[in-house]
Amino acid sequence: MSKTILSGRAVTKKFRGLTAIEDVEFDIPEGAIYGLIGPNGAGKSTLFNLITGYYALTSGEIRFFDRDLASLPTYRRNQAGIARAFQISKPFPALTVRENVRVGAMFGKPERTNFDIVTDEALSIAGITELADRTAEGLTVGALRKLEIARAVATRPKLLLADEPCAGLNPTETEEMVQCLRNVRERGTTVWLVEHDMRAVTSICDRIIVIDAGRKIAEGTPREVVNNPKVIAAYLGT
Ligand code: ADP
Ligand code: MG
Repeated sequence: MSKTILSGRAVTKKFRGLTAIEDVEFDIPEGAIYGLIGPNGAGKSTLFNLITGYYALTSGEIRFFDRDLASLPTYRRNQAGIARAFQISKPFPALTVRENVRVGAMFGKPERTNFDIVTDEALSIAGITELADRTAEGLTVGALRKLEIARAVATRPKLLLADEPCAGLNPTETEEMVQCLRNVRERGTTVWLVEHDMRAVTSICDRIIVIDAGRKIAEGTPREVVNNPKVIAAYLGT
């Protein structure tokens, strides 16, 4: 059995009158690829924002390895090894792809590190080595998304949170992103992704957590989840 890298207990987030996340529990094993699915507005991005520290918990607890994250600001969570890849990548447009990834490497742990080796490794994991010398300006949506993963990977995270990495990608780009996320895990980083593309999410994930209206309604293997009547009713039906 592998260690639990991230756990949540009674995780709850209220925005004034609205309960966006309620009593959600999770245990993500180190080395896994987990999915997080559910209808729009279910609270998926909010949950990721609670893990990164962008939002503070209303109640409950999130632990990263044995550490309670409550007192850690976002940058300390980054330093501890939690990275987030955003759907909209905002690279420095005038810099090359390699330079953009190198910035990620420099924001990683400030220990003695060879930034060039880390950068090349991240480019290779994301499958964008051949784009390394192009400026970020004018990259396709698919290439930008891979650049976003490469920048996150260059910080050498232990956990990568990816919010809808395949949204808006064509089937070829989606397949490349799936491969990219598999490479991230191969390298030893645990991955938790929000994704609406069910083909992608079921092909890549070991297990999937389903939330609806802020509550966890199911968790299991892709096969268990797609056959779960509650999941079909809340999300997959029609
Ligand atoms: P998902 O990512 O699953 O589509 P979100 O986590 O973005 O859902 O949103 C969950 C609910 O929380 C929605 O009703 C949304 O409007 C609300 N919400 C998210 N962020 C905020 C915020 N900063 N202030 C108020 N309400 C918010
Ligand atoms: Mg969202």
